[in-house]
Amino acid sequence: MALVNEHFLKLKSNYLFSDIAKRVEKFTSENPDKKIIRLGIGDVTRPLPQASIEAMHRAVDDLSRSETFHGYGPEQGYDFLREAIVEHDFAPRGVKLAADEVFVSDGAKSDTGNIGDILERSCSVGVTDPVYPVYIDSNVMSGRAGDMLSDGKWSNVTYFPCTAENDFCPALPTGQVDIIYLCYPNNPTGTTLTHEQLKRWVDYAIAHNSIIIFDAAYEAFISRSEVPHSIYEIEGARRVAIEIRSFSKTAGFTGVRCGYTVVPKEVIATTADGREVQLNGLWNRRQCTKFNGASYITQRGAAAIYTPEGRAQVLETIGYYKENAAMMRSGLEAAGFTVYGGVDAPYIWLKTPDGMGSWEFFDRLLHEVNVVGTPGVGFGPSGEGYFRLTAFGRHEATAVAMERIRNWKL
Ligand SMILES: *Cc1c(COP(=O)(O)O)cnc(C)c1O
Repeated sequence: MALVNEHFLKLKSNYLFSDIAKRVEKFTSENPDKKIIRLGIGDVTRPLPQASIEAMHRAVDDLSRSETFHGYGPEQGYDFLREAIVEHDFAPRGVKLAADEVFVSDGAKSDTGNIGDILERSCSVGVTDPVYPVYIDSNVMSGRAGDMLSDGKWSNVTYFPCTAENDFCPALPTGQVDIIYLCYPNNPTGTTLTHEQLKRWVDYAIAHNSIIIFDAAYEAFISRSEVPHSIYEIEGARRVAIEIRSFSKTAGFTGVRCGYTVVPKEVIATTADGREVQLNGLWNRRQCTKFNGASYITQRGAAAIYTPEGRAQVLETIGYYKENAAMMRSGLEAAGFTVYGGVDAPYIWLKTPDGMGSWEFFDRLLHEVNVVGTPGVGFGPSGEGYFRLTAFGRHEATAVAMERIRNWKL
């Protein structure tokens, strides 16, 4: 008899975005004349860099002739892309990587969800709270998260609260945590860690033989020099950290699909009987079996962001979103809100006034000024009393939303 993987049954449906959609739908059907502005989306809106468009057109043409046709590519990605990543994303920051430490994929969501395959099920897991839900849910599916407790937390997951009280800098665990997920710049809070703050995590991981899964999907939004772009800028990180990046938020690839994972050869985990194993080889084996490579067209498009034209175009689009973020920060502050993030990330995390709950704030914002955002509590218990707005909207709509909020009598 086929039995189901019962760990899946422990997962609650992901109600957050469907809940939001339902409430917005109800409001619009009852108020068809009201113009809603959506600042809740976590998806980009600007078109792809022209350099990528042209490269993908050429790649399509390559596929039309037998001399330049490409079938299955290397599971790990084409050398032209792996080498461009090493040369442009890491070498300028003093990080030396070999191309075979980079594994190209169809995106960071798959990689953050799949990486647990190569680690033992009994490992303990730690996440920042609030959190990108994939880190937890993928561990629930594999049975590693344990069971849900009455407070909504998982029994084998350690939560590191990130709130205004600790300036969104998570405290180190007091005991042993084997696998630690860090996302910086952070989704949903938009906050970052400095070199020094991140170094404490690397030092912890070295001392405890832990592995850090470092999600740097928002690296391209970093403005301030004290914020590391890669965890490998931190001494010792090559021994304990796996870094995951994405072309999605950097270059508008959310619908095209491309990302990559870096597994340095020094990253080691041990077997139960104490043998040391390189995770690079395990991830390679896992990808070769379960993944057949990102498409040639996609990888040509991705590599084009490293050309001079591509880089300029990426910077321009990131600049567009950052202008939104700056406008939102100043608009919200002028309206009397306390805001976090939005400097090195496309997310603004605002404190709801007078201890108002995240969902009450959502409803009032929707009903009274017709702006949609995301309740912070949807990302974890420590998100209660916070609210996420994104800078991925159009300038004009974002400006109108800020004006409405400034004139709002809350
Ligand atoms: C958007 C996002 C990703 C997903 O990236 P894809 O490459 O599109 O799968 C990964 N991590 C975080 C934190 C994100 O917000």
